[in-house]
Amino acid sequence: MGESALTGYSEFVQSAMVGRADVPARQNGVMTSDVQEVAEWVRTAHRVVVLTGAGMSTDSGIPDFRGPNGLWTKNPDAEKASTLQHYLADGELRKRSWRSRVDAPLFTAQPNAGHYALVELERRGQLHAIVTQNVDGLHQAAGHDPAKVIEVHGTVHYARCWDCDDRRPMVELLNRVRAGEDDPSCEVCGGIIKSDAILFGQNLVPHVIEAAMAAAERCDLLIAAGSSLSVFPAANVVPRAKSVGARIVIANAEPTNMDRFAHALLRGGLSSVLPLLCAAAPRDDS
Ligand code: NAD
Ligand code: ZN
Repeated sequence: MGESALTGYSEFVQSAMVGRADVPARQNGVMTSDVQEVAEWVRTAHRVVVLTGAGMSTDSGIPDFRGPNGLWTKNPDAEKASTLQHYLADGELRKRSWRSRVDAPLFTAQPNAGHYALVELERRGQLHAIVTQNVDGLHQAAGHDPAKVIEVHGTVHYARCWDCDDRRPMVELLNRVRAGEDDPSCEVCGGIIKSDAILFGQNLVPHVIEAAMAAAERCDLLIAAGSSLSVFPAANVVPRAKSVGARIVIANAEPTNMDRFAHALLRGGLSSVLPLLCAAAPRDDS
């Protein structure tokens, strides 16, 4: 969601290589021992669902929207540029989006230790699904089975024609921009092309959000990681999991809208916290 802000403001992207591992592990009464206790929950869980947000990828150099170094925190106008209506109506905005997309770190970012820790959960057979609000593809890049990753807000790695739905790899479009086109149109029908990430004002894909909610209802442990939990319906994964009796862990640098549902709140940086949570589980080859 808000993908044109991600790509239209690459100067912010480049200046926001924010490592959040400096966030103290002891904060707001959340003690290190809680990490150990939660690690024990992870160790004994059978079907973990992890709901991830932009905070997962800040340690990979992709800024979030609402954190202290977020795109919108630093530049409130960026939020306006993230709506479908503006993207479709404003050719100049589209040209700026395509121009900045060519060099956007979003396309070259690498997974961080937090992403790899979640792959360990899958390797041990404990991961039911990752429900991600991220559009960066870093969970798959870290090594997850793509079938385990439910991208509720789509992906920037594909482009889609708004008129005829033709879908193809983003790299093809970026090559056309590099070759001189400033607002590449659909080769099938001439329509407007956007990335396959969901913008504000754009409907989610029903079967994708249904899959996310179904996963929430199947889990025995939900970890919400790096999300302000303020974008709906994705954030509803939390109460949905709680309603079926799952343990709820919210790992985020700041308080979230859903903290009242949590059995444990962890405030540390995710590239430190997630490896700690997953390291405590016995490896199946040990
Ligand atoms: P958000 O920007 O609303 O919230 C991110 C949260 O993560 C903040 O509360 C912040 O304090 C926390 N955070 C940041 N770095 C952290 C770290 N290293 N460790 C722990 N916590 C950290 O993000 P959201 O809830 O995902 O919603 C924003 C929307 O924008 C999403 O729907 C998503 O589609 C899109 N988005 C995607 C990306 C991406 O794909 N990487 C980046 C920005 C925004
Ligand atoms: Zn088309």
